[in-house]
Amino acid sequence: MCVDLRSMEYYEVEEVVLNLGEKKYRAKQIYNFLAKGVSSIDEMYTLSKDFREKLKERYYICKTDIYHKLESNLDGTRKYLIELGDGNLIETVLMIYKNGPSICLSTQVGCRMGCKFCASTVDGLVRNLTPGEIIGQMITVQKDLGERIANIVIMGSGEPFDNFDNLVKFLKLVHEDYGLQIGYRHITISTCGLVPKIREMEKLGIPINLAISLHQVEQNKREEIMPIAKVYDIEELIEAGKHYANVTKRRVTYEYALIEGVTDSLEEAHKLGSLLKGSLSLINLIPINPIKEKSFKKPNLKRVQAFQKVLLNYHIITTVRRELGSDINGACGQLRRDVINRDKR
Ligand code: SF4
Repeated sequence: MCVDLRSMEYYEVEEVVLNLGEKKYRAKQIYNFLAKGVSSIDEMYTLSKDFREKLKERYYICKTDIYHKLESNLDGTRKYLIELGDGNLIETVLMIYKNGPSICLSTQVGCRMGCKFCASTVDGLVRNLTPGEIIGQMITVQKDLGERIANIVIMGSGEPFDNFDNLVKFLKLVHEDYGLQIGYRHITISTCGLVPKIREMEKLGIPINLAISLHQVEQNKREEIMPIAKVYDIEELIEAGKHYANVTKRRVTYEYALIEGVTDSLEEAHKLGSLLKGSLSLINLIPINPIKEKSFKKPNLKRVQAFQKVLLNYHIITTVRRELGSDINGACGQLRRDVINRDKR
C-alpha cells in the first residue's frame, strides 16, 4: 500500500530518502515541493527520474483539488469545495482581513456531533481527514491565492478533537521549518466541547488558541441544540476552558451562536456573563446563517447589540463576528450540501 508524503513529518521524509539510498538533503527538496503544492511526484523536477520512479512505487501525494469555488464581490472571501482522492467533498473558506488572509479548514467529511444549527452534520460523519488532507486544503488554497496564508482557524466541517491524532500531526506538519512554517499562536482550534481532549491538548503544551462553541448557557437547553452536552455538561466544559486559560495564559474564545428565540434572550446574556466573569476569556457572538434543512432564524441587529451590551457590562471582551462574503455566504457545510444535491439531480 502506498503512503501519503503530505502526511509525513520532516524526519519521516528524511528516513524515506535515506532508505532509498539518497542523500539527506533530498528530503528538504521534497518538503519544499510539497509546500509549493505539487500534486504528483513527477513534478519534483530536481529529483532524478530514477529516484522519482522509486518514490512512486511506495509513496503518493494525497489529492485536494478545487472542485468548485465561489468568490465574494464584496470583500474577496472565497469558499472552496475541495475534492479528495475518494471523491468526497469538503469546504474550505479563505477570508481576507486587514492583517492578511486567514483560512478555515475542515477536519472531517461530515460530522457526528449533531449540533442542530449545523449543515455539516445532517448526514452524519463520513470519515476523518488524514493530516495530509488537512494541510492539503491550505496548500491548494494558498497556491490558488498566490500569497502566503499565515492564520488558520480549524472551524470547518467536523469536530477537530474527534480526529485528535490526525489533528495533532497536522499541527506538527504545518509548523515544520521546511514546510509552511506557521506559528502555533496563529492557529485557533474550535471544539464543541470534548472535555477530555481539551485537557489532552493542554497537556501536550502546543500553544494554539482554543475556541469553545458554547451557544447555550442552560444545561437542558444546550442539550437540545448540542447533543455533546449530554456527555460533558456545561460546568465541566467551562471548568476545562478556564483551566486551559490558566495553564496556557492564553485567552479562550467562547463562540455563542445567536438564534432568534432560541439563544438570544437577555436573561441568557446575563447567565453567560456570570459564568465567564473574571476569567481570561473572549466571547464571540455569531448571528447565525439560516440553514435550508432547519428553521432557525438570525436575530436582528438591535437584538444582537443588546445582547453584547449585557456582556460588556460584565467586563468581558465581546465581539460580534463580522459577516464576510455575505453575497456567497451560507451556513457552514451548506455549499457542500447544495453541490452534492445539485449533482445528484
Ligand atoms: S458545529 Fe462543528 S461540531 Fe457541531 S455538528 Fe457542526 S461541524 Fe460538527
